[in-house]
Amino acid sequence: MTSKVKKIRAAALLLALLCCLGGCIQLPKTEPSETAGSGETPKEEVTVGKHHETAVYTYSTEVDEETLKTGLSKEYLLLANKNCVLGEDYVPENLVSLPRAWTTRSMKLERRAAAALSEMVEEMLAAGVSDTYVTSAYRTYAYQQARFDEYRANEMKDITEDAYAVLGYDHIYNKYLVNHRTGLDAQDAERVVLSYSARPGTSEHQTGLCVDFITEGMGGKLDASFENYEAYTWLSQNAYRFGFILRYPKDKTEITGYQYEPWHYRFVGREAATDIYFSGLTLEEYLSATAS
Ligand SMILES: [Zn+2]
Repeated sequence: MTSKVKKIRAAALLLALLCCLGGCIQLPKTEPSETAGSGETPKEEVTVGKHHETAVYTYSTEVDEETLKTGLSKEYLLLANKNCVLGEDYVPENLVSLPRAWTTRSMKLERRAAAALSEMVEEMLAAGVSDTYVTSAYRTYAYQQARFDEYRANEMKDITEDAYAVLGYDHIYNKYLVNHRTGLDAQDAERVVLSYSARPGTSEHQTGLCVDFITEGMGGKLDASFENYEAYTWLSQNAYRFGFILRYPKDKTEITGYQYEPWHYRFVGREAATDIYFSGLTLEEYLSATAS
């Protein structure tokens, strides 16, 4: 572990109490790096992970290094969570369409994130993981609103496992079961939905910087079973090389505000992704630790 990572970890511990719960975090004061140049992008050998204690990864990539390295640009460290709201009008710049070969439908992502994603998926395919698709990328505010309303309506029709997990058996028994009610009221339904879906304006998908993966074996349902697939194993070891992080880790739900989502990957640029990967921090903690 490098001193840089140690420093970040130490700072994160000190700043843990000041984390996102108190409001939006100031982004690192760095100038946005220049956008990737055009022209030839020669295949080159790159070695990263030098500060990993047990492994040094050597890999080849054809993606422009300037695409992967964002220089800690604010644009790619944009925070969207329950406390940091993007708002109804936020639309990312430079959205491009993703290749249909490995997406479940037509979808868009921010240009640089899309280039890094393409390279990552191609290398995942080359590693033999061929049952995996991107099932969600950029989402508009209106789309998120529609999804949120749909989820809430579903929670009002039936008492789901998520309802028991969020509200607790006693609450459900006393309020619903003894009264022979088979669905939640709107207020409880919303509480349950907020445990797995973002309120419109707070979804990270509105940044145009993140994607959800799904495998053929999952039957169209995104759930934690994704971690049992080869794709998860590969992504969890390699995504940082392409500037992506696992955004909602299992043991950080109180910090991120979300349940464990092994399928959700966020582009932050390789510098931040590498530090986050090796330090075990969330994006919220990383931004707190590096703010000055
Ligand atoms: Zn997602």
